[in-house]
Amino acid sequence: MSGPLLRFAPSPNGRLHRGHAYSALLNAQLAKAFGGGLLLRIEDIDLARSRPDFVAGIHTDLAWLGLVFQGPVHRQSEHFSDYAAARDRLAASGFTYPCFCSRGQIAARIAALEGQGRIIARDPDGTPLYPGTCRGLPKEAVQARIAAGEPHTWRLDMGNALRALGEPLTIRCCAVDGTEATRPANPARWGDAVIARRDVPTSYHLSVVWDDAVQGITHVVRGQDLEAATDLHRLLQHLLGLPVPAYHHHALIRSGDGEKLAKSKGSESLADLRARGVSAEEIRQSLGFT
Ligand code: GLU
Repeated sequence: MSGPLLRFAPSPNGRLHRGHAYSALLNAQLAKAFGGGLLLRIEDIDLARSRPDFVAGIHTDLAWLGLVFQGPVHRQSEHFSDYAAARDRLAASGFTYPCFCSRGQIAARIAALEGQGRIIARDPDGTPLYPGTCRGLPKEAVQARIAAGEPHTWRLDMGNALRALGEPLTIRCCAVDGTEATRPANPARWGDAVIARRDVPTSYHLSVVWDDAVQGITHVVRGQDLEAATDLHRLLQHLLGLPVPAYHHHALIRSGDGEKLAKSKGSESLADLRARGVSAEEIRQSLGFT
């Protein structure tokens, strides 16, 4: 498919709520306004939290809202070998390294460093940056530990990655009227982020940039909660030589008391709303769509 291409990419680890509806409807509105297509991607790399009934719920809710998607549905759990190949490319170029630390070990190391008066920066999500314990481990020891089956993640070597940049990266930001501006990308604030998890050969960050590229996505329209992650995505695109889409990060829909809607907080789902007689038309109107 050529021309503008957008996607809605929910994770099936809960029921969709009004925030998802807003994002999906905005994607559809902009796809139409830009004269482009709209794809559906199911981001189900989290095998412990993804459930078939949540996938079915996504399809039911989106059809109920009147949304139509082009082409086959892309399910990330069917593409682990592609992500593994991308992960291995990054490792072969020296942009990542295996990390054997458990969460507890990382927390203990950070507490020890802070106890010595060291200031550990936080990433945009508020998590302390990885202190680099496994960066620079001797190659033979690393190989032996992997051969012995020791669980490990793969972390970006942010220092190496940044040194490989010719010039500072920028992000193309797209407004709803299609006009574009650029802003500087600041991936360093994520430190040595996890690029591939222990249980699957990928992470949200790696899969999302890979799929946006292979699916030919030209405009990524998603919530503001993912705006800072775009800096890391832009770096991965550069390191993997992938095309770069434009990004629009929309404001989040909040509950009456100003809280961000979240599956984990039990926000009322679209299915709940439907069950108590709210129509799809009322949902669309309440979110500002006609
Ligand atoms: N799967 C992510 C979510 O449900 C969205 C990812 C994206 O749009 O980049 O929050």
